[in-house]
Amino acid sequence: MQLSVKMIKISRKEAKAQGLKHYFTGIQCINGHTTFRFTANSTCGECLLATHKNYLKTEHGKAVQKAYDRGEKAKQAHRVRKKDPRVKKMNRRDGAKRRAAKLERTPSWVDHEAISRIYLFCPNGYEVDHIIPLQGKLVSGLHVPDNLQYLTCTENRIKYNAFEIE
Ligand SMILES: [Zn+2]
Repeated sequence: MQLSVKMIKISRKEAKAQGLKHYFTGIQCINGHTTFRFTANSTCGECLLATHKNYLKTEHGKAVQKAYDRGEKAKQAHRVRKKDPRVKKMNRRDGAKRRAAKLERTPSWVDHEAISRIYLFCPNGYEVDHIIPLQGKLVSGLHVPDNLQYLTCTENRIKYNAFEIE
């Protein structure tokens, strides 16, 4: 980590007035650092960095860093995977399959407007789910209003997995 803040002398009061997050007076902190401080609590930047570094050496800090790295690695892996032509092809095929199933499982008598309304009014954080999946292994549901429900994204994943295992 690098501390890169422009060292222009400005008092805390002035920084506050200007809405700046940092200020710099040129006066040493109790630990002898001459660097910027945070306007909010006048903490020295170097001291905070040292505290952070020490924290990362503790068991809990190590665990937090590890969890963070894992998350970053997973994100990176996902980004790389998405660019793989084989994965791209698979995703395209799955999408095409899903769209075809939807068409195939939509009866001619269906109330298209009612379906559109269900999708349109889907609350934030929810997904429209087919109660009986369109491409179920045992039974296949229809793309009709009666077979639609709102599920949270998490619920939807859990349900998807349950159907996949059965
Ligand atoms: Zn300091």
